[in-house]
Amino acid sequence: MQARIWIVTVHTSSEGAVALAASNKKPVIVWFRNDLRLNDHAALAAAMERGGDIYPVYILEDGANLRARGGASKWWLDKSLKSLRSDISEKGGKLICRCGDARKIIPELVDEIGAGAVYWGRRYGKPEREIDSSIKSALTDDGIEAKSFNTCLLTEPWSYETTSGGYYKVFTPYWKSVKATYSAPSPFSTPESFSGAGIDGDRIEDWGLHPENPDWSEGFSDLWQPGEAGAKERLSDFLDDGLRSYKTARDRPDISNGTSGLSPHLAHGEISPAQIWRSVTGRINRGLKEDDSAWTFLSEVVWREFSYVLYYHNPDFGWENYNKKFDEMPWRKNKSALEAWQDGQTGYPIVDAGLRQLWHTGWMHNRVRMIVASLLTKHLLIHWRDGETWFWDTLVDADPASNAAGWQWTAGSGADASPYFRIFNPITQGQKFDETGKYVRKWCPELKDLPGKYLHAPWEAPSDVLEKAGVKLGDTYPKPIIKHAEGRQKALDAWDTLKEKQDA
Ligand code: FAD
Repeated sequence: MQARIWIVTVHTSSEGAVALAASNKKPVIVWFRNDLRLNDHAALAAAMERGGDIYPVYILEDGANLRARGGASKWWLDKSLKSLRSDISEKGGKLICRCGDARKIIPELVDEIGAGAVYWGRRYGKPEREIDSSIKSALTDDGIEAKSFNTCLLTEPWSYETTSGGYYKVFTPYWKSVKATYSAPSPFSTPESFSGAGIDGDRIEDWGLHPENPDWSEGFSDLWQPGEAGAKERLSDFLDDGLRSYKTARDRPDISNGTSGLSPHLAHGEISPAQIWRSVTGRINRGLKEDDSAWTFLSEVVWREFSYVLYYHNPDFGWENYNKKFDEMPWRKNKSALEAWQDGQTGYPIVDAGLRQLWHTGWMHNRVRMIVASLLTKHLLIHWRDGETWFWDTLVDADPASNAAGWQWTAGSGADASPYFRIFNPITQGQKFDETGKYVRKWCPELKDLPGKYLHAPWEAPSDVLEKAGVKLGDTYPKPIIKHAEGRQKALDAWDTLKEKQDA
């Protein structure tokens, strides 16, 4: 493919300025990964600045120790890629899709396109980093420019160090440091048009990302609009309707829009965290009264960053206990209990509601994620890895860093983790955070006619109340899989055994 004169209009949206760039450089490949957007994309902006036709590429990677995507994440990817393809096509370009080992495909594409450069956004898992650095050195050896950029995080996982050196292992000082020093750069330029001719690629439709036989994704599309436009809309709705009350509403699964619902958009990079930071701090600077709510929201965005710090500095964080003491924990293999938990049939309404919400929508409220994870790892003493694996398959926001961090935090094995003896009580958690019962009634409709007093502990209801509500415990709704006091004691005993082993 011949290099051609290429003219693109580049605009820096912060200043509204318009600049023209022209070049006769060889084309540049922009390799999209977990950054499926055109706005505020450092690698794309750098490609525009460099000059030359831009060839946008996506590779459905396999092999080389990469963890296979879960089903819900594939569902999202399917729609997100189609949305990116259409956004690029509206600007006269073509998203080139290929499937296979990127170490083979990228050099092939360089040859086919006659590219002089490949730009991409960084990823932070060990196998991905190994792939990327081997591609980078192979390209560089061949005289092809290879550059990587931060497209997914506010700051790189190595950017902040404690005063004694080393990465942060505790969230609060990390957050304080980010809050005091971080300011989002001006947004990166967005291409107004693409001028590369494009080459053949796979059809996204042929990749089988959308589930079939059975198609379990029915409830997903009612709730989600994958893609950059959907992300933008969700942020704007949240800024208007959710941000002000976030601090109090964020723990309430019964309040719709209590949280932003931005996680799957962030996980696929349809919006950058810097875009969120800019929008929220913009409101604070313009005098938002509820600024502590806004800062609380930003601190949650920074939890995501903190998860990446842990994940980057501990390459096996996704499957090994961060706190090695937990290697001795007497976890139990209990297939039937794990399945009852996955199916939302534990007999604890708040837990079952959460797991059913997850199955039907691909998402679960953060408070409920903690409650269900605590029941699995503590009451049932099932390894956090089994829970993490289920979430990986069923969450549309499945993220290697945040998922591992969330599970290790709840199980007690993580950095800055909830202490092991903090065992969530699924009854009082339900009563406190689903006070209205709206959440449980929605996801466990067989309990909908129970009075609020018994909703989170149906086994405590007198038989006439159960009968009136049409609930037959052990028939229409399960009895608790384990009594709370018994589960709690078992978990504490396991912890004591662990400590004794350590002390011996
Ligand atoms: P909001 O409350 O609106 O927060 C805004 C953004 O901040 C989120 O979109 C998310 O990117 C980030 N965020 C918020 N809370 C956390 C947190 N505790 N840790 C890291 N980032 C956070 N989040 C994922 O994105 N992917 C996962 O795979 C994932 N697995 C989890 C597993 C467990 C066991 C637990 C306890 C938490 C997990 N989380 C995960 C974190 C959190 O539950 C979700 O990010 C949050 O529920 C997403 O909803 P939201 O976008 O409405 O969040």
